[in-house]
Amino acid sequence: MQMLNSINNLKVARHFKLSEFACPCCNRVMLHPKLLVKLIELRKILERPVYITSGYRCSKYNHQIGGVINSYHCIGLAADIKVKDINLIELLEICENIDFAGIGFYEKKNFLHLDVRPTKRTRWRE
Ligand SMILES: [Zn+2]
Ligand SMILES: [Zn+2]
Repeated sequence: MQMLNSINNLKVARHFKLSEFACPCCNRVMLHPKLLVKLIELRKILERPVYITSGYRCSKYNHQIGGVINSYHCIGLAADIKVKDINLIELLEICENIDFAGIGFYEKKNFLHLDVRPTKRTRWRE
């Protein structure tokens, strides 16, 4: 199935491809425009690449990696990100200003979870 090599290989913004948000196990993807808009804003402020380490997850994959049940990753509302050469606290402050509804601060693993959940603002730290 050679066609599948290029599945999701399309730009959804100047600096983001849909494939970056796809589930690693099945290439399925959901991406809410609200999440994308905020990530574009972040990319613009940072003026450097924002790496999506986890975007959409099918429920099988989410279970496999030990994600929480009903994770916002499973409905295209969340992304975990890494950015090179920036302190995680500094990155967190910028994300706070962009006002993501959910922000998880993963100090040891050095990444942020960002989401646009419809419920109240939530913050956590690991
Ligand atoms: Zn999958
Ligand atoms: Zn996450």
